[in-house]
Amino acid sequence: MAKSPEVKVAVFGRAGVGKSALVVRLLTNRFIWEYDPTLESTYRHQASIDDEMVSMEILDTAGQEDLLQKEGHMRWGDGFVLVYDITDRRSFEDMAPLRSLLEEVRKPRHVPLVLVGNKADLEHARQVATEEGERLAADMACAFYECSACAGTAGAAGSAGTVAEAFHELCREVRRR
Ligand code: GDP
Ligand code: MG
Repeated sequence: MAKSPEVKVAVFGRAGVGKSALVVRLLTNRFIWEYDPTLESTYRHQASIDDEMVSMEILDTAGQEDLLQKEGHMRWGDGFVLVYDITDRRSFEDMAPLRSLLEEVRKPRHVPLVLVGNKADLEHARQVATEEGERLAADMACAFYECSACAGTAGAAGSAGTVAEAFHELCREVRRR
């Protein structure tokens, strides 16, 4: 059997948006409430995507890196998950600058990415409308997902399936190029 393709995925977004919770959800299908916010880790994850086994190496960044570290992570990755928190407008406003930096670091290459609005279970505290996320994703020509790392407590928008779908779609996007 052919060796399964490897995709390096880096997860970006400011501290507290739920990057670690999303990665842990993807890997274990569990939600862990507290996770060391300063921790940066890489994980390996295998998934069957369109009947093909894909190995992901996932870098869960801390979100507090300086520019040099950020650029290093951007050079390392094949694809990128940009995460904001729907209850934190500032985290949404970080998205476009992150995208610009990615473009700058990776030019002239196309940058495979997906945009994720996390904490969709906290509808009552929402600061960023779904349409705003959709519009930004359209501007960036990438896929968009609203999801919740604590699936099970959330409605249709926030299922574990959506978290996996975001990562899988990113892998497809990387492999298309
Ligand atoms: P990171 O700094 O981006 O890695 O964020 P964490 O994964 O450490 O999460 C920050 C905080 O948000 C923690 O208290 C998590 O329990 C909480 N959190 C993460 N994802 C969600 C989510 O989808 N819904 C809710 N309600 N809380 C979340
Ligand atoms: Mg974290």
